[in-house]
Amino acid sequence: MKLTILGSSGAAPAEGGACSGYLMEEGRVRLLLDCGTGVLSNLQRVMAPSKVTDIVVSHMHFDHFLDLVPFGYWRTYGPKQTLGEPPRLYLPPGGRRALAGIVAQVGVAQDFFERAFTVAEYSHLDVLSLGDLKLTFALVPHYVPSYAVAVSQGGVTKLVFSSDGGPSEALQRLAAGAALFLCEAALDTPEQSAQPGHMTAAQAAEIARAASVRQLVLTHFWPWQDRRRAAAKATAVFGERVVVAEEGASYLL
Ligand SMILES: [Zn+2]
Ligand SMILES: [Zn+2]
Repeated sequence: MKLTILGSSGAAPAEGGACSGYLMEEGRVRLLLDCGTGVLSNLQRVMAPSKVTDIVVSHMHFDHFLDLVPFGYWRTYGPKQTLGEPPRLYLPPGGRRALAGIVAQVGVAQDFFERAFTVAEYSHLDVLSLGDLKLTFALVPHYVPSYAVAVSQGGVTKLVFSSDGGPSEALQRLAAGAALFLCEAALDTPEQSAQPGHMTAAQAAEIARAASVRQLVLTHFWPWQDRRRAAAKATAVFGERVVVAEEGASYLL
């Protein structure tokens, strides 16, 4: 399985970068995990958007789904002979209604997304089978319902993506033994609330260590965050070298 980072920013893209977006390729499956601002542009550096077979959105924050709009235009107006089958779009619970609300407010056809994609909603209890890959989910603490995703193959957990969320046992359980743990590190200092909705690089590393993952990759940085400092802090906690996600980087899992 090949993972390519298409977007590693949170909230707003860094210069030349994009918000949340990760491409996984395994056999005939080309799965786009999140489709945040700028992801469609970076996707085209790797493959034509028409080659994407499945899209999973972790939660309904703009930085994780906003490029579904240009992706929808691509599928609506792109050359018909190259479009192929519409990708399956898996949204979190309530995602369909959220997208319908957006198009209703801007005068776009009500069925814009439904025509561009084969739309479904997943539940965090679901197991999605995409070719050889199995996807499972965990609800993590955030400001809206947010779902971490585990991608496994042949019973081996290859990738766990944290989505956005504060530290949680649910995430640690999902990440157990993962080959690669792609974890958000949106904060420089821990959020002082009873239920934080994001985490620091050190908190991400604590979960990674407790879950005995093989590799930790930090992501979801504000454009002005010091990524090298975050990596150094996480490395000190995790005990092995931690890297930060960079657009265009790929990993064979
Ligand atoms: Zn985010
Ligand atoms: Zn979020």
